[in-house]
Amino acid sequence: MPLPRREVLCFDGKAVSKASAKATSTQCSNCGTFIDLRDVDIRVRSTQRIRTRGNVTVHKKGALLGTAFHCGSLVIEGSVAGSIYAQETVEFRTHAKVLGEIRCRHLLVEKRCHVQCIQPVHVQTLTLQGQLTARVLASGLVQIGRQGRLEGTLNAGRLSLEAGGLVDGAVMIAGRDDRGPASGRWIVKVDRGVFPFKIPSRRSAPGGSVVRIN
Ligand SMILES: [Zn+2]
Repeated sequence: MPLPRREVLCFDGKAVSKASAKATSTQCSNCGTFIDLRDVDIRVRSTQRIRTRGNVTVHKKGALLGTAFHCGSLVIEGSVAGSIYAQETVEFRTHAKVLGEIRCRHLLVEKRCHVQCIQPVHVQTLTLQGQLTARVLASGLVQIGRQGRLEGTLNAGRLSLEAGGLVDGAVMIAGRDDRGPASGRWIVKVDRGVFPFKIPSRRSAPGGSVVRIN
């Protein structure tokens, strides 16, 4: 039986190599860059240069003070200041103000957390259970839960908004629904309940979510 393997994204954000799931390092098959695969736990204030495709956890009293770092997935219970380049998921479990940009496959903001991003957020998918203030560029699905709040601008492939969830800002749904590509129409995908408005003609409805189109 073949050993389980994982995909490893080069730090250039482009080339993907294969490595053993248990490997602690690998080399990019495209450019030869050494890629650390070890996990990192941050429990103190640190200026450590983080450059791994392992998983990074910034614990409660931990702080990452560098200007940029790379990781596989990232869990934030403490604080991060600089740009985040993650191959997979970035999960905020606390309030945070991020001065740099965020690039990752999936971004998750947990309930009762408010995350402010000064620079743009580039993701494939976003799940918002808490509050996010940002300029979001999502190629795929953005899911906003009943306590989710997005302030800023949203460019998304698709948007799912639960009753109670809110987007406050300019919304652009690029247009790809389950039936295939749409030619520049506004498309909103609803998973549950009745979507309380139509884009862009009607702006709100009683008892539901509100989207204000700027
Ligand atoms: Zn490379």
